[in-house]
Amino acid sequence: MPMSLAQAREVLARANRIIANEGVLDAFGHVTMRHPHDPGRYLMSRSRGPELVQAEDILEFTLNSKPLKPPTARIYSERVIHGEIYKARPEVMAVCHHHAASMLPFCVTSMKLKPLYHLGATMGTQVPIWDSRHDFGNTNLLVAKPEEGASLARALGPHWTVLMRRHGATVAGRSLEELTFRTIYTARNAAAQIQAEMLGAGLEPLNDEETELAGEFNLQPGPVARAWEYWSVRLDKAEGNWPPRQRAATKKRVAANPRKAAAKKSPAKRKR
Ligand SMILES: [Zn+2]
Repeated sequence: MPMSLAQAREVLARANRIIANEGVLDAFGHVTMRHPHDPGRYLMSRSRGPELVQAEDILEFTLNSKPLKPPTARIYSERVIHGEIYKARPEVMAVCHHHAASMLPFCVTSMKLKPLYHLGATMGTQVPIWDSRHDFGNTNLLVAKPEEGASLARALGPHWTVLMRRHGATVAGRSLEELTFRTIYTARNAAAQIQAEMLGAGLEPLNDEETELAGEFNLQPGPVARAWEYWSVRLDKAEGNWPPRQRAATKKRVAANPRKAAAKKSPAKRKR
């Protein structure tokens, strides 16, 4: 059964907070998903730090990045990144744009980001770099005009991750969970590459076949669901919601009055 709009807003808000909780997103950046019932729309939060995003913040946009209803709050200026990628890539269901510290060295030098280990392989065999100067000359480096978003989507091409010169990165996925996996492990791979380069002992990345095999393996439903559950519980812990409140409240009740709690559990026994 397809996800309801209410479920989509919940899960998208959670993806924003998960990727922030793992240190990839900070005050800036955003995660979006294609609308679950209308491929001609996408869902995105109102403008706020991703760590704060709640289901009620999620708004609907057309693929031209126009809000469906007149917004009552500020909206992100870089939403065209998302709209133009959804337009260009029908199979893309979720997009994350971020400025993670571990990725920035690859946006400001000629050092190429390479998949170094099995989980990092989910970045794909090639990570193109988009230089906004090629199409637009000197700008404030934000991607706020539709033509800038379209130029970035062309640079991404058929790949899954694109670096943006002196700005950050944009990642695409076939599901929100796959996007979350790729976004976090690509940023971790980038951090590992910087450390490995410092060892100065030569760096041997995965070859293309290894990258394809490992990337495909890790993006199967099992590993993706396992990682999502792990990050989700880490988020619940960080937000003070673990163990889940209901279970904690029941435990407290049992400890305070075990006989009463048992009677409540089995009313038949109580009658006898
Ligand atoms: Zn940005």
